[in-house]
Amino acid sequence: MDCSYFCSRLNQFVDGELGYLEVAELQGHLSFCPDCAAELARISEVRAAMAAWGEAELAPPPGFAERVLARAALDPVPGSRRPFGRVVSDTLDQLDEALGRVPLPGGRTVPVKNVIGYGIAAAALAAELQRRRLRRLRELKSL
Ligand SMILES: [Zn+2]
Repeated sequence: MDCSYFCSRLNQFVDGELGYLEVAELQGHLSFCPDCAAELARISEVRAAMAAWGEAELAPPPGFAERVLARAALDPVPGSRRPFGRVVSDTLDQLDEALGRVPLPGGRTVPVKNVIGYGIAAAALAAELQRRRLRRLRELKSL
């Protein structure tokens, strides 16, 4: 039998899958064939390296888990609703792009969304002052 017959059985030999007679036949060939003996040594070396690799402990860099958890906490779960604050922020950014900026005296500009925000805040303040004034009037009438 030629070397290719024995070479094709070397992996099975290493895996312990050959029968007693096949092992004896292969060992007989290996005892006088340096090529097949070298191939067996190479296969054994690769197997040992793979076994060592499988046992190697792959440690993440320090703080990796903490950074991943912190980042995951910031991201919404896929398919879930975006956080309200982010929706508002994105909407204001779109508004900012669409409306542009208002020129101020002195050459400066202010985003239109800010002007709208000031207007809403002023209206809310005026409404609160009006509500307080009406409550005060009702208190005075009841006295
Ligand atoms: Zn051989």
